[in-house]
Amino acid sequence: MMSRIKKINQGITIILKFFKKIIASVANPAELPSADKVRVYPRSEHSISRSQISDNALKVLYRLQKEGFDAYLVGGCVRDLLLGREPKDFDVVTNADPEQVRKVFRNCRIIGRRFRLAHVHFGKEVIEVATFRGATEGQNDKQVLNKDGRLLRDNVYGTIEEDVWRRDFTVNALYYNIKDFSVVDYVNGMEDHKAATLRLIGDPETRFREDPVRMLRAVRFAVKLGFKLDTHCEKPIHELAPLLSSIPAARLYDEVLKLFLFGCALQTFESLRHYGLFKVLFPATERCLATEQEGFPKLLIIKALQNSDNRIADGKSVTAYFLFAALLWEPVQMLAQQKMAEGVTEFMAYQEAANEAIGKQIRSTSLPRHISLAMREVWNLQPKFNVRVGSKPSRLITHPRFRAGYDFLLLRAETGNVDPNLAEWWETYQNASETEQRKMTQPPRKKSIKSGRKRTYRKKTNNDSPSTTSTEI
Ligand code: ATP
Ligand code: MG
Repeated sequence: MMSRIKKINQGITIILKFFKKIIASVANPAELPSADKVRVYPRSEHSISRSQISDNALKVLYRLQKEGFDAYLVGGCVRDLLLGREPKDFDVVTNADPEQVRKVFRNCRIIGRRFRLAHVHFGKEVIEVATFRGATEGQNDKQVLNKDGRLLRDNVYGTIEEDVWRRDFTVNALYYNIKDFSVVDYVNGMEDHKAATLRLIGDPETRFREDPVRMLRAVRFAVKLGFKLDTHCEKPIHELAPLLSSIPAARLYDEVLKLFLFGCALQTFESLRHYGLFKVLFPATERCLATEQEGFPKLLIIKALQNSDNRIADGKSVTAYFLFAALLWEPVQMLAQQKMAEGVTEFMAYQEAANEAIGKQIRSTSLPRHISLAMREVWNLQPKFNVRVGSKPSRLITHPRFRAGYDFLLLRAETGNVDPNLAEWWETYQNASETEQRKMTQPPRKKSIKSGRKRTYRKKTNNDSPSTTSTEI
């Protein structure tokens, strides 16, 4: 009896699913990638050559194919290969489930709870192998959306047509098939790629609601690739930007690093501000920037981002803590000024301001402990640069964060935040011999004044002024 009821229930569920699918496809026919819409670009019609693909990625693809599975490169690597760029990493998709992938490779680990993935390790290089993700979004029992329409859970395997739906932009949904070296395209991604257009798959508002991080990705890819964001995708961003605040702070921290550390930080910053996304990521900084004088945004951030881009262009390293120290400097400075006006000493004012600024920022983007510690060190070094007599300067240059602190001082000097003479003095001091350094830090001679004796005064000249300048920071 029970099993008959179960069977009837199952039957009803299948029929309901069938109707749900039909209704959705009639309501939004253009949104469903299907086998009849696929375009296959043979090897002769695209520019991707195997010589551009990492040997390890090729090994994974061939091995899966040998075991009888379908195997494709997908996502950013296909997009970048078509542009003739070196991809950051190579992502593989297959119809093998993670357990089957694990059986094929000895050097494989399964990761992820929300969606299980296989990582195939080759020394330092890791090739990520994902199983086709299943079912059209919003039409599956295993997908859970929150009240804003955000995807909370989605853990089912499917076909390549369904997998297209887990992709964000059409140019990120091109599949390079190892079987015949063709590029498989369900969403007109190749046309968009040629037209340098970034277009979301499906209804932009729905897709942004499902995962608001896609708004940040839109900005990042548009800037990185030099693509134009499709107008339908662009439109809802201003309105939906606040939804980003529902994303866990740790994920936003990772996204901020991706946004600012790929070499186009300045342009990204301007674009984020334009779409109202920056204020969700850095609310306190945005409030300071909103008080721009004569329409000029606070220059230190701009200069810091520009420097960081130049360093990346020169193949130099950039650090996350320096970037965050620059991005949060305005609020720190503003808070410190307020505290000093209330009578707190300069040193304490900056300490407290740093605590407050960091405490508020971690509500938006988390800051790992080692990052926030390093940021504080850079900030705390700033008032210490004012002391130019005695033994303190020689101790300061041995501080592990001296270089970063000094670079920060240079930024401040270049942007009118501190007297340029101070930065120059430290430049000379670092490069001077020990004898020279000692001379530079000698305190001004004290005049011995004995009580009862007649005091002689002479006119004060510039040379008499003490070598410490209490520069305002
Ligand atoms: P990058 O060059 O930064 O690695 P990418 O496109 O490869 O760019 P990844 O974050 O590595 O970006 O993601 C790989 C692929 O997974 C993307 O190309 C996209 O197809 C899909 N993807 C990643 N994140 C999302 C997301 N939030 N929503 C939808 N699809 C996504
Ligand atoms: Mg990638």
